[in-house]
Amino acid sequence: MAQRRILVSGGAGFLGSHLCERLVEQGHDIICVDNYYSGRKENIAHLMDAPNFEAIRHDVTFPLYVEVDEIYNLACPASPRNYQADPVQTLKTSVHGSINLLGLAKRTGAKILQASTSEIYGDPIEHPQTEAYPGNVRVDGPRACYDEGKRCAETLFHDYRRQHGVDIKIMRIFNTYGPRMQLDDGRVVSNFVHQALTGKPITIYGSGEQTRSFCFVDDLIDGMMAIMDLGFDVTGPINVGNPHEITMLELAQTITDLVGGTAKLEFFDIPQDDPTRRCPDISLMTSLTGWEPRCPLHAGLVRTIEDFRKRLELGQSVRAA
Ligand code: NAD
Ligand code: UDP
Ligand code: UDP
Repeated sequence: MAQRRILVSGGAGFLGSHLCERLVEQGHDIICVDNYYSGRKENIAHLMDAPNFEAIRHDVTFPLYVEVDEIYNLACPASPRNYQADPVQTLKTSVHGSINLLGLAKRTGAKILQASTSEIYGDPIEHPQTEAYPGNVRVDGPRACYDEGKRCAETLFHDYRRQHGVDIKIMRIFNTYGPRMQLDDGRVVSNFVHQALTGKPITIYGSGEQTRSFCFVDDLIDGMMAIMDLGFDVTGPINVGNPHEITMLELAQTITDLVGGTAKLEFFDIPQDDPTRRCPDISLMTSLTGWEPRCPLHAGLVRTIEDFRKRLELGQSVRAA
């Protein structure tokens, strides 16, 4: 495979750091761009000595001039706790950030992939969600800064393609978990693993009957790179995730079984606009690339628990889950 110059925005985050690692291993020249809003230097520390890796502290809401062949746009806080901490900045990141990186792609002729999200579907009425489902979303709720920013970003991608011929790829990512997730990002896997390891009660929001479908990070990154390799004619959106759907109560049980000990559950109110069900239809992705998730939930959780255990032992700082 020819060596390419690749920009990864949000490269110091959870998914971004795994992507940078894989691209560095393949011998490409990587520019990681991150403002460390929700990412950490520790995530990319092991790459800093690689001659084909470079990290730039930069906020994508401001213009950026570099010469590249491909752009993965992952910059955007992904957990509700992080994106709701500064909703205006979240919107600016999705909208201004996409405009700047699309402008960069237009000038350099680079291919550009947008890390979009299943949140596009809001609280879906159709189940499982295909790419054709238009979504059940609202503009004024606490999740809107994320959902609407991502929706606008998708529109910008389509318009840069139609108006300027930019080679775009849109990937709709469903819930993903694995090593290097922020210990205290408030997401369900991080909370449950952290709580189980520290002997705290497991916090269930609502009845715990709501569902999600969790994809292990290595599978997700395989899928992301496969989408980037698709030809100009394929723009997406393309769903990527693991269709194995479970309730939050089942997830709590699975994680406590793996950690050992008995689970004490503590119930809290369900957050506003929390989707009741979420499961991807991945037939488009499978037909285009042959990709399908390989890592079962148990195996992925074992690796995640191990990583959390190590980081907790090292004393990595956490806010209360
Ligand atoms: P993350 O918060 O760990 O990573 C996002 C990274 O973007 C962080 O390193 C953060 O510092 C950086 N960033 C934020 N604003 C920025 C800005 N203005 N300029 C430069 N960098 C900025 O989250 P993640 O889980 O790695 O998610 C990566 C991408 O994938 C996001 O775009 C997210 O919306 C999308 N996604 C993730 C999931 C998931 O389950 N993890 C699901 C759907 C979509
Ligand atoms: N841009 C950038 N890097 C580039 C080219 C453009 O950051 O290499 C930014 C530029 O600042 C502009 C945005 O991308 O605000 C959109 O670029 P485009 O060419 O579409 O718009 P224009 O410059 O015509 O407003
Ligand atoms: N959740 C929970 N306990 C927690 C954190 C989350 O029961 O400690 C629930 C949350 O209400 C939601 C699901 O788990 O129904 C997934 O939440 P997360 O924030 O991980 O992702 P998203 O809602 O963005 O899919």
